[in-house]
Amino acid sequence: MSVDAVPPPLGPPVRRRSPASIVWIVVLGVLLIAALTGGTLLLLEVVRLQAQTQELERMGDEQRRLLDEQEAQLDEQRTFGAAMEDFMAKARSLDNVPIGGLVALDEIESLAVEAWRQRHSPTAVAQLRDEVTERADALQTVLDAAAAQLASNASGTLGESIVDGLASGHVRVVYDDPAPICGGDPIGCVSSDDPTLIHLDPSDYDAEYFDDELRTLVTYHEFAHVLQFTNPGPTESAAGAFGGDWEFMADCYALTATGSWSLDRRVWRDASSYWDVSVGYGRVCDETQREVIRGWLGEVGFHYRPVSQEAA
Ligand SMILES: [Zn+2]
Repeated sequence: MSVDAVPPPLGPPVRRRSPASIVWIVVLGVLLIAALTGGTLLLLEVVRLQAQTQELERMGDEQRRLLDEQEAQLDEQRTFGAAMEDFMAKARSLDNVPIGGLVALDEIESLAVEAWRQRHSPTAVAQLRDEVTERADALQTVLDAAAAQLASNASGTLGESIVDGLASGHVRVVYDDPAPICGGDPIGCVSSDDPTLIHLDPSDYDAEYFDDELRTLVTYHEFAHVLQFTNPGPTESAAGAFGGDWEFMADCYALTATGSWSLDRRVWRDASSYWDVSVGYGRVCDETQREVIRGWLGEVGFHYRPVSQEAA
């Protein structure tokens, strides 16, 4: 019996893959999965780096802001320091000038302390610097006026030259009638309204019966009033030695400063005639009182000292 061969059923031809192809497919699949996974990881990494960059930028901005802030603070502190140096240089030129009230060093020191306390606020430090600058400008005006006063003896008198020497130009002398200013009939006077202006009456001061010793005594007496008015603290304690009498004290200053023990003078008119002239208030102070005057002179006026930014 013959067996017919049964033909294979019709249909698409079946492709047989070789084992090598299957291996490649598996390898490619693995690579694809690896690539996809890697891509995801890469994406995650990029996102993470972006976040880090933003954080760094944010931190950078903050640091820049802090640096700018610190720079602004330092700038203001530097300009405040420069203003202080300018003021102190001017103040130093007034060291030992006996006129009180020329330099408010305690107030400047308070501004310096405040500037240190507010050192983190450029606005506050700038305001304080402006105050210091304003005071330095005012001090310069005082110095300029004194320099102009010293530059010439406008009246050409002994009185003005004595006062210029004693006050470094910070006190003026005017020759006028002191009566309307101080009352009575004084040879000279100083008013508390303008305590650095000495009035001298030319009708006495330049009179024939006055000599230079008398002019000198009167000028010193009036200068004592300038010191009294402008140095109230030291004056109050020193005046106790004179029973609180400022005129007696002023006479004592005049006698001490000129080394004199008398307020009376005999002024010879010619070989046979003279005037006996008295100035002052009739009392000659003793050595103890003169010592008080010397102590007072050590306290009056301005004495330069460095200032501190540390609160007292
Ligand atoms: Zn007097």
